[in-house]
Amino acid sequence: MKIIDCLNQGKVTLSFEVFPNKYSKNFEAVANKAKEIARLHPEFMSVTYGAGGGTSQYTVNIAKEIQEKEGVDVLAHLTCVSSTKEKVHEMLESFEANGIKNIMALRGDLPETEVPHDYEHASELIKEIKEYNPEFCIGGACYPEGHPEAKNKDEDIYYLKKKVEAGCDFLTTQMFFDNSIFYNFLYRAREAGIEVPIVAGIMPITRKEQVKRAIQLSGSSVPSRFFSMVDTFGDNEKAMKQAGIIYASEQIIDLIANGVKHIHVYTMNNPDVAEGIMNNVSEILK
Ligand code: FAD
Repeated sequence: MKIIDCLNQGKVTLSFEVFPNKYSKNFEAVANKAKEIARLHPEFMSVTYGAGGGTSQYTVNIAKEIQEKEGVDVLAHLTCVSSTKEKVHEMLESFEANGIKNIMALRGDLPETEVPHDYEHASELIKEIKEYNPEFCIGGACYPEGHPEAKNKDEDIYYLKKKVEAGCDFLTTQMFFDNSIFYNFLYRAREAGIEVPIVAGIMPITRKEQVKRAIQLSGSSVPSRFFSMVDTFGDNEKAMKQAGIIYASEQIIDLIANGVKHIHVYTMNNPDVAEGIMNNVSEILK
């Protein structure tokens, strides 16, 4: 099924992200975790793509396993900033050959050294995909606190609108830990005339070590109650995991209670965390 059709059904959706770890040679282990997560019956699952394309075959293989063996629709990520047109076309052919209908089209983080590439921004990739096969359903990334490279939030929204006009069917947000930031972003996006569904991205932080990296990667601001949680439970593995699942679940409940329909959880390939969240909100999703 196309993700856009799933988002337009009028019901609340909960979806999960998994990532093929570029350091892990053990494809089977990641694929098994992804399949365990798929058995929780999320609305769909996304599979990330290494910015340099090094794990591209893993993305396709894991997406195919989830879709064919577990019957869950998939959204395969694709980045372009370190890619040539030839590589992009090769990937699109591979998606088609493996029954993948949904693509999260991304720029990717800028590489540290110059590499051959034919794209500067995600919007160029989106145009390319639409020209290649208009039947692909395309998602794009958005940043409630502004992309770290953007001069300001207005400029970021301006380019986000251009990206949607290039052919984005829906958007998924970067993680955020304070829902008011998302509500504010949603208001600004709608005011700018961005009308596509916007899926809220939630990252459960269940280990103290994740905090620094998550904040660095996303540039997200963090409310003091989040820091209190990490300060209090961070050194107790089980308590931190439970607290992180509850924090993310509370964010999700608040979003749904305020009319947000679509939530995407960054599971970090952790079936326990995905299951904890699913259990906490399963009645709310009905
Ligand atoms: P763009 O949309 O190109 O935007 C990047 C910056 O350029 C922004 O500041 C924007 O305002 C600006 N901009 C956009 N268009 C123009 C223009 N025409 N002229 C001038 N400026 C412009 N990374 C991975 O490597 N693999 C993944 O699988 C992955 N999945 C992700 C999923 C989600 C939901 C999110 C939020 C991010 C993901 N990322 C992933 C990270 C992403 O690749 C980086 O955040 C990257 O730096 C930006 O990608 P983008 O697609 O948002 O870029």
